[in-house]
Amino acid sequence: MPDEDFRTAARATADLVADYLDALPERPVWQPMAEADRRALLDLPLPETGVPLDALLKTVGDRVMTAPMGNGNPRFFGWVNSAPQPAGVLATLAAAAMNPSSAGGDHADVHLERAVVRWIAELVGFPHPAGGGLLTSGTSMATIVCLAAARNRAARLAGVDVRAEGLAALPPLTGYVTGETHSCVRKAWELLGLGSNRLRTVATGEDGRLDTAALAAAVAEDRAAGRLPFLVVASAGTVGTGAVDAFEPIADLAGREGLWLHVDGAYGAFGVLDPAIAHRYAGMDRADSIALDPHKWLGVPVDCGCALVRDTAELRGTFSLVPSYLRDDAAGSLGWFSEYGTEQTRPFRSLKVWASIAHRGRAGVAADIAHTTALARQLGDLVGACDDLELLAPVETSIVAFRYRPAGLDEAAVDRLNRDLPAAVQLRGRVFVTGAVLGGREMLRACLLNATTTEADIRLLLDEVRAAGAELRDRPDTD
Ligand SMILES: *Cc1c(COP(=O)(O)O)cnc(C)c1O
Repeated sequence: MPDEDFRTAARATADLVADYLDALPERPVWQPMAEADRRALLDLPLPETGVPLDALLKTVGDRVMTAPMGNGNPRFFGWVNSAPQPAGVLATLAAAAMNPSSAGGDHADVHLERAVVRWIAELVGFPHPAGGGLLTSGTSMATIVCLAAARNRAARLAGVDVRAEGLAALPPLTGYVTGETHSCVRKAWELLGLGSNRLRTVATGEDGRLDTAALAAAVAEDRAAGRLPFLVVASAGTVGTGAVDAFEPIADLAGREGLWLHVDGAYGAFGVLDPAIAHRYAGMDRADSIALDPHKWLGVPVDCGCALVRDTAELRGTFSLVPSYLRDDAAGSLGWFSEYGTEQTRPFRSLKVWASIAHRGRAGVAADIAHTTALARQLGDLVGACDDLELLAPVETSIVAFRYRPAGLDEAAVDRLNRDLPAAVQLRGRVFVTGAVLGGREMLRACLLNATTTEADIRLLLDEVRAAGAELRDRPDTD
């Protein structure tokens, strides 16, 4: 039972966390760990007897919180990792204290999850029939959930009960992605036994968006060869450049061809909240399913993804295996969350989602999103205006794809330089940016998710890229 020690430690934990968050902006964004500190963690001995709470807390403060990943700092622009919403941080403690399994039943966490899934659907403007979604560990898992439902429908329409008969009974199903589609789609596709060879990569236009004419041609070719097209995946913000696919023509084609339209909105779906770019998302509400990540742009502490599915019966029909001893009729006709996805014991994710959204309100969330897209566009403009920097894609959401291109280097040297730049920038500790390859070219990729990032921070990013670039060019082996 909690005693005075617990209460004292809880207060100290609150102080530790608040001090940590306060100090973050003043610290190096990231630093490599000293070998001794790394070893101290790797070689931690299993304690034979218990360690008191205050000593545990000291270890957390001295050995763990001293070596963060860097996301949380307003000058962190890496991958798609956000700063945690403070309200969400507090909520995780309360959620852990309750520690329910949000599988089903009549307790607060279950009802709260239904509410926040509806909120998420409302935020992105997706229709939400009761039961049409659930929280997951992330978009990778949400994609498995959505694609499983899509596979179930395709099989049923082909007269096959894939749950009973398995993959061998299926006609050759094909699906369509682009070269910009996140790898989690291929992973889900492979896990569902559909076979990588039948996941077609459709061409994109210059703008990185799915080329609908190429999709139509690929579908026709597969049909002519006796295969059964059933799925197209569009992106609401690609991970490389933040491009948003043109949903209307894709949805038109999907409708004509009977394809399940799945949208990967992990990073970018919430961009629809910014009036300045909302038009790019026209038609997203026509999808059959969306996978998205409150643990990215919304800043909900990791982990939290979400699957939204239009056809709830299809979703439940894909996963429900409710044995009689777990049935809960009192919970109403929706049944248990565990009938809509892969997990049985499920964490209380909804409290941190509720807190992260409710603390700001819809307007506050939208303002945070709009702040980051505006800064991203400004960064794009700054890059475009500099002779030694090159913008590689238009800034559609809050990702800026660019490269450092000082005068006098050939293509190969520019590639080498940009390949080595992210690590060199990171080591300097002032900003954090990551790299990627776009169209065969090494580039830097800055993702803006933090509403406390300022114009001075994005200017510093460019200064740091130049400074690290100069260091690299001074190395004897670079060019
Ligand atoms: C992050 C991301 C994913 C994967 O989501 P996880 O939450 O990491 O599982 C998929 N697609 C896009 C576009 C992403 O940014």
